[in-house]
Amino acid sequence: MPIYVYESKNPSKGCAKCCAGLEVRQSLKEDRLTTCPECGGPIERVIQAPGLTHSRTDLHYRAKRAGFKCLKKVQKGEYEKIY
Ligand SMILES: [Zn+2]
Repeated sequence: MPIYVYESKNPSKGCAKCCAGLEVRQSLKEDRLTTCPECGGPIERVIQAPGLTHSRTDLHYRAKRAGFKCLKKVQKGEYEKIY
């Protein structure tokens, strides 16, 4: 089953989970999520990456989200997952 990545449409209002991006394993038949399962805020699917390993997705995310204030611990380029 592919893993889809969602993130908050409005990171300044999202919870830690959707703000950092969340990975959801879904079948192709399932509808895409539109709201965060934690806070109910609006989210959107940003990556459809059935071929990528978890670690590559994670690296992509660390890079993409670098600088976002919702990442709480930032030390010399290290971004701690908060979801
Ligand atoms: Zn949320």
